[in-house]
Amino acid sequence: MRAEIISVGTELLLGDILNTDAQYLSRQLAAVGITVHFQSTVGDNPERLKSALSIALSRSDIIITSGGLGPTADDLTCQTICEELGVEQELHEPSLEHIQEFFEKRGREMTENNRKQAMLPKGCVVFPNTEGTAPGCAVAKGNQLIIMLPGPPRELQAMFEKSVKPQLMEMTKQTIVSHTLHIFGMGESAVETTIADLMEGENPTVAPYAKEGEVQLRVTAMAPSQADADTLIYPVMDELRRRLGRAIYGQDVDNLEQVVVESLTRCDFHIAVAESCTGGLLAKRIVDIPGASKVMECSFITYSDEKKTKLLGVPPKLLKKYTAVSQEAACSMAIGARRAARSDLGVSITGYAGPEGGPNGEPAGSVWIALTDEERIWARHISVAGASRSYVRHVAASHALDMVR
Ligand code: ATP
Ligand code: MG
Repeated sequence: MRAEIISVGTELLLGDILNTDAQYLSRQLAAVGITVHFQSTVGDNPERLKSALSIALSRSDIIITSGGLGPTADDLTCQTICEELGVEQELHEPSLEHIQEFFEKRGREMTENNRKQAMLPKGCVVFPNTEGTAPGCAVAKGNQLIIMLPGPPRELQAMFEKSVKPQLMEMTKQTIVSHTLHIFGMGESAVETTIADLMEGENPTVAPYAKEGEVQLRVTAMAPSQADADTLIYPVMDELRRRLGRAIYGQDVDNLEQVVVESLTRCDFHIAVAESCTGGLLAKRIVDIPGASKVMECSFITYSDEKKTKLLGVPPKLLKKYTAVSQEAACSMAIGARRAARSDLGVSITGYAGPEGGPNGEPAGSVWIALTDEERIWARHISVAGASRSYVRHVAASHALDMVR
């Protein structure tokens, strides 16, 4: 199958921006076994775009355009291609709703020209835009396929990955097997250093993503059959597991809280939570998971020292000697929560969420976390330097979940 890329945009011809979309698409197409025979670039000009398209149609099976799907007058790709192909444009309601929602969520007014972005070729396959407004689409002309994608690289890449690639895979009769390993407690660069050689492989590919204090590794293999793809992917998955060990908290899971609820359910353990600086965030994240009622016993938000004593039995003397943000206070809170709730486990968080630190110069982002069962107790200290209040609280709750899992 021969593919051809047409990049649309005067700014590309002026040299104002680099054509990274063409680079991305060429790489991606090669990775799914489709060869790109031509790349061309045209300005925002209907006549020249028509001529580029007609040349492409004379020599390629798949034509992918990027750019010119926006709302402004110079965004002419879809309209021009429809005219050249003799296909009518019609309003695609779900896309219009998506665009309206996009503006509502951001509290912005949708202007009339945004409607234009939902005018798509009759009978096309629509690719939703998860990162922006303009949908992409694919129109068939006989055995040929014309795919239109938005210009902004973030939008184009998300759309390609989520919608276009699966479609192309089907056409090339390839199967993709993909798994995601979820890692906590190891930074992105530490992960990359540990697995650098495995990231160089082309099939399977190993791609890291950092997200909210976690790292995810997406491993993707491609082969003519599922069995062949499995044969390619499993040795690499095993090697990743061997190298990253306990830092991997799950495979193809949603998040840490899901893993925690599942493992507590499996053990039939009940948990009680005592929180200071996270103010209920840990409890919230556990309760977000359906089935939490099987494991979640009780949650205390003890923000003041007084309530740490009253509700959890933390001795005032201890708080005076070590302060409320200390290993001693965290352990005492966890023990108190477990005892008060008569649960199997007690977990606690106490720290300085920031922007201010402690009264004795303790830095913001310094947090103690403790976990206790019937006879043992574990404590962990983290210091999340230079982060926002909400990030410190999120990461603190994640560490507590990581200890429980
Ligand atoms: P929009 O809705 O943002 O107008 P669009 O689909 O109409 O999207 P363009 O107007 O052509 O796309 O381009 C929007 C922006 O996307 C450009 O200013 C540029 O920053 C980026 N962009 C467009 N084409 C490319 C490309 N080929 N490579 C890299 N970046 C690009
Ligand atoms: Mg535009």
